[in-house]
Amino acid sequence: MNNCIFCKIVDGEIPSSKIYEDGEVLAFLDIHPVNPGHVLVIPKAHYENFISSPDEISGKLLAVAKKIGLAVMVATQSSGFNLSTANGAAAGQEVMHLHFHIIPRKDRAEHQPWNQGVYAPSEAQKVAAAIKELLQ
Ligand code: AMP
Ligand code: ZN
Repeated sequence: MNNCIFCKIVDGEIPSSKIYEDGEVLAFLDIHPVNPGHVLVIPKAHYENFISSPDEISGKLLAVAKKIGLAVMVATQSSGFNLSTANGAAAGQEVMHLHFHIIPRKDRAEHQPWNQGVYAPSEAQKVAAAIKELLQ
């Protein structure tokens, strides 16, 4: 993927603060951290997002993210972290190369909760049934 910024980081064309590397996975500091120690975990091969990546790769990324999450927490004296990925532009994905964010958190108060709502009558049953049908 010629024009992909994360592929360029993998290839060493763009500098990054690398913290972990193995045959399939690279992890480096996010250049605009939510908090210091904000890490991105990416596959070295280009996959656009979580859904388009093979299970072996997404599974490997999660295993590595678990290890790095613990190290990030200890190194930044944080008591928690968020692990997230945006799947698609509608979800806020800006770099179209699969990545998991690890964002260390020290304080419950600084975490912005999602804007959650309530279901209209029978809406929950309908959406649950539609999802379930696709999973048969
Ligand atoms: P997302 O919105 O989930 O696609 O996140 C993309 C992330 O990549 C953002 O948090 C950016 O700050 C980060 N980012 C973009 N370019 C670089 C770069 N050259 N080095 C490190 N992080 C980057
Ligand atoms: Zn890429």
